[in-house]
Amino acid sequence: MRIVTRGISVEGRSIEAYIRGRSAEPTILILGGMHGDEPKGVYVARRLIAQLDGKPDTGTGSRWVVIPVVNPDGYEQRRRRNVRLVDINRNFPTRSWTEITRRSRMYGGKAPASEPETRAVIKAVTSYRPGLIVTIHSIDRHRHCNNYDGPCKALAQMMRRFNKYPVVSSLGYPTPGSFGTWAGIERHIPTITLELPSHHSPKRCWEDNCLALQACAAPS
Ligand SMILES: [Zn+2]
Repeated sequence: MRIVTRGISVEGRSIEAYIRGRSAEPTILILGGMHGDEPKGVYVARRLIAQLDGKPDTGTGSRWVVIPVVNPDGYEQRRRRNVRLVDINRNFPTRSWTEITRRSRMYGGKAPASEPETRAVIKAVTSYRPGLIVTIHSIDRHRHCNNYDGPCKALAQMMRRFNKYPVVSSLGYPTPGSFGTWAGIERHIPTITLELPSHHSPKRCWEDNCLALQACAAPS
């Protein structure tokens, strides 16, 4: 796959996109590691890259753009937020964005899109114009799910056939400045937040989701 640097983190780490396919094809954007303490999402994104790279006949008919580590500084330290203590998943310029206390683990920054990691994702969305986005997180207490924002309930249900996770339209709490709100609700791009079960091993997460992810490809 081709590797393109889409941005540079606060501490100077590159935020890389792995790309397979042509720009004329419908594009699927896969994001991992928006929260640095959710390494299972990074693992699954990297296994997907290896699969797409090693087996050219998988996921054909679509262009794949995979950014396995959106927040490389947080990932390095296994911390949710970036090094300026901003939750990237609350830093998107949604209509609902509001400044909250920096002490919160969901601090959304001083201003919307204040963080280079957020801007790298925005740039990827505006330049690749994906028809579908899957952002991979992990969650505890058996709340794993295929969470959808925007017009993609059917897609979430299709993923459930493979990974057996519940389909939910809301996580049950407000998420101002979240990526799902920005891309799915406000831009109408079908966006799945795939919440992996944090009590499963990385390998199990991949095994349960490899077909769900590959099935996102447009039928060729
Ligand atoms: Zn997360």
